[in-house]
Amino acid sequence: MERIRESEGMHYEGICIRPPPEASSILLQVTLGCSHNKCTFCGTFKEKQFQIKADDIILSDILFASKYMQGQDQVFLMDGDALIIPQKRLLWILERIQEHLPWVKRVGAYANTKSISMKSPQELIELRENGLGMLYLGVETGDDEIRKKIDKGSTAQQCLEMGRRVKDAGMELTLTLLLGIGGKTKSLVHARATGELISAIDPEYFSLLTVILIPGTPLWEEHERGDFAMPDERGLLMEMREIIAHTNVSHCFFASHHASNYLPIRAWLPEGKQDVLDAIDAALRGEIGLRPEWMRAF
Ligand code: SF4
Repeated sequence: MERIRESEGMHYEGICIRPPPEASSILLQVTLGCSHNKCTFCGTFKEKQFQIKADDIILSDILFASKYMQGQDQVFLMDGDALIIPQKRLLWILERIQEHLPWVKRVGAYANTKSISMKSPQELIELRENGLGMLYLGVETGDDEIRKKIDKGSTAQQCLEMGRRVKDAGMELTLTLLLGIGGKTKSLVHARATGELISAIDPEYFSLLTVILIPGTPLWEEHERGDFAMPDERGLLMEMREIIAHTNVSHCFFASHHASNYLPIRAWLPEGKQDVLDAIDAALRGEIGLRPEWMRAF
C-alpha cells in the first residue's frame, strides 16, 4: 500500500524554474537540482545536490494538485532534468498523474542529451503513451568548441541524435539556445552553427535566451579575468539575425520573449522568417525599442 503524507501544500525546495510556455502548468517537483550541474553559465542549481524526491512526497503533491489545481491542464516536472529518473519510477509518477489528475492533457519536462540517451526509443514511446508529451532540450549552441568550453557535456551530433530520438517517439520537442554564449569573438560562428543544428533537428519549437552573467559561475569568473566578453546589444541582435537566417525548418514556432532577451519576437517558421528578419533589421536601425536593462532577467 502506498504511504501518503498529509497534504499541506506543494513541497517545493529551493529555486524552482520552468520554461515560459509552462507558466500555467501544475509545477510538480520530482527531482532536486540537475544531474549534470556543470554548465559554466548556469547558477540555477549550484546550491542543490541532485536527487530524486521521495515517492510519498511526490504523491502528496499530486493529491494536493488534485484538490486545488483542477483548472490547470498541463503538468511540468521540475527540476533540471526529470527525464533522468529511472523508467519504472518515472512511469509510476506518470500513472499517478493520470489516476489523480485525469483532466491533465500533457506532461512536460526538461531533458538533456544524457537523460535522453539513457532511455531507449521504446522507453520514450512508453513515456509518451503515459502522458509525457513535451521535452525541453537546452542545446545552447551548435558549435562544438563552445559546447566544450561551457562544459555542456555533449556534442552537436549527440544533440541531433537525441533530438531525433525524441521526435521519433512522437513527443514534441522545444530547443533552447543561448544568445551571447560564444562571446564577442565567436558570436557569428556560434550563430551559424546554431541555425544549422536547429535546422537539422527540425523541432516543433525553439526559443532564444540571452546569457546573463551570474556571479559565482565559472563564466562570470572568466569574464572577471577578462577572458570572456559578451557582445553588446547590437552584436546580440546581429547574432540573432544570423541564427534565424541560417534556420530552415519545416514547421516550427520560434520565440524570443524570454525575459533575458532585448527583442521579444514570436513567429511561425518558415512562414514568418522574413518578418522576423525585418523586425531585427528595424531594431538594428533603432526603429523598434529594446527591452530596457532593468527589465531583463535570466
Ligand atoms: S544549463 Fe541545464 S544542464 Fe546545464 S547545469 Fe544548468 S540545468 Fe543543468
